[in-house]
Amino acid sequence: MLIVMNHTATQADVDAITEIVKEMGFRAEPIPGSERTAIGVLGNHGYVDDSKILDLPGVQRVIHVSKPYKLVSRDFHPEDTIVDVAGVKVGQGCRPVVVGGPCAVESEEQIIKTALFVKKCGADMLRGGAFKPRTGPHTFQGLREEGLKLLAKAGKESGLPIVTEIMSPDNVGLVAEYADLLQVGARNMQNFDLLRELGKIRKPVLLKRGMSATVEEFLAAAEYILAEGNDQVILCERGIRTFETATRNTLDLSVVPLIKEMSHLPIMVDPSHATGKRSLVSPMAKAALVSGADGVLVEVHPEPEKALSDGPQSLTFAGFDQLMNEIRLLTGFLGYR
Ligand code: PEP
Ligand code: MN
Repeated sequence: MLIVMNHTATQADVDAITEIVKEMGFRAEPIPGSERTAIGVLGNHGYVDDSKILDLPGVQRVIHVSKPYKLVSRDFHPEDTIVDVAGVKVGQGCRPVVVGGPCAVESEEQIIKTALFVKKCGADMLRGGAFKPRTGPHTFQGLREEGLKLLAKAGKESGLPIVTEIMSPDNVGLVAEYADLLQVGARNMQNFDLLRELGKIRKPVLLKRGMSATVEEFLAAAEYILAEGNDQVILCERGIRTFETATRNTLDLSVVPLIKEMSHLPIMVDPSHATGKRSLVSPMAKAALVSGADGVLVEVHPEPEKALSDGPQSLTFAGFDQLMNEIRLLTGFLGYR
């Protein structure tokens, strides 16, 4: 429930309502706005009787929010959230960011070479999986902690913040020690214990859309993280399952402007996993930026034909360099410097 105050309401009116909401057994979160203050009511599991509140001084109206997400919604938080990843700002109004790197960290040489190259091309962050959620158990599963160490070394040498996937709630402490941005992959979007643990840390989270998740389920998953106190969440569209098999997934670009209407959280796009095909990655990365995405996440490998995972969708160094040049022109055209 959201209690919207009159623009003439005083701080004492807001405090009085906050007290009453607490007495009713709920949490009250004042949300100051430029025109008027609202008070979010949290912790209820169903309809809240508003009769005690409607006639109180300063109350303009009460909105019953029946969505499974509140903290994530624009109703509760009209201003855009800007996520700070080790000094790199992500969100509405900031220059869109580019995250580049291999699907998986494979060796010291591979990750350092890639880090230095993507940095030289102007990337903002380095990605690389150390814990890999592979479809089958007989494929490369990642270098685990050794991979985290190599990624951290590459981050240090290139000066780029690092992004890596976290699969289990048990590993949150370990991954958070190394990563600047912790990625929840599509397969774990509804791993609620993991989301809760990520809500308790003070590092930003990149939450990918599940492959069959509706927008409502996607936002409700983000709500788990915010509900535990971590509002540094970046959403990421990475393609969904449809009847189409010509591409690995179907990139649902319309969710970029849609989620910006529904939520204050930044949203990025991953055209690599969305398409699964190298030749489609750059066109869809550019389309994502035109649709308003706050950044793109792109797989790059020094030798894609030898990659231990996702080689067919990884850009070559030359392909990434060209994409970065095109992105520079595009972001200039879109009004960013
Ligand atoms: C990845 O980023 O390497 C990955 C496994 O992505 P997704 O969870 O989107 O499939
Ligand atoms: Mn991958």
